[in-house]
Amino acid sequence: MLCYIGIGSNLGDRKKHIESAIEKLKAIKGIEVKRVSNIYETDPVGGPRQGKYLNGALELETELEPRELLARLQAIENELGRKRLVKDAPRTIDLDILLYGCKKIDEPGLKVPHPRMREREFVMKPLKEIYAGI
Ligand code: ADP
Ligand code: MG
Repeated sequence: MLCYIGIGSNLGDRKKHIESAIEKLKAIKGIEVKRVSNIYETDPVGGPRQGKYLNGALELETELEPRELLARLQAIENELGRKRLVKDAPRTIDLDILLYGCKKIDEPGLKVPHPRMREREFVMKPLKEIYAGI
C-alpha cells in the first residue's frame, strides 16, 4: 500500500530528529521509504507558546496494516523522547498517517485521511511535492 506520513519536530535538534525518524522507518521490515519532501520551517499552530517547527512529508510503500503502521510510528516517537504532556505541546518528533492508499478509517485513535491535514499548509505543501496520485 502506498501511504503518506507527515513528520514534524520543534524541540531540540529538529533536523537530527527528523533524519533519525526517517532512518528508523527505513530499518523496519515491511516499510520502504520511497520519497522524502523538502523540509520547511513553519510557525506553530495552536497549543502553548513554542518554537518553530520543521515539517515534511514522506511517501512509504508498506505491507503493514494501518494499526500496525501507527504502532510503529508511535514507537519511533517514544524512542526519540516524545513526551505527551498537553495537547499541541512542543515535540521532538511527530509522525502522523496522512493517507493510507484510498482507505478511509474512522476509529477511536485512528482517523485517515488525517482529519486536519487539508487546512494545514505545513502538511499540504510538502505532501503536494511528493504525492503520486491524481
Ligand atoms: P497530533 O499529531 O494531533 O498533534 P498526537 O501526535 O499526540 O497529536 O496524536 C494524538 C493521537 O492521535 C494518537 O494517540 C493517535 O491515536 C491519534 N491519531 C488519530 N488519527 C491519527 C493519524 N492518522 N495519524 C497519527 N495519529 C492519529
Ligand atoms: Mg501525531
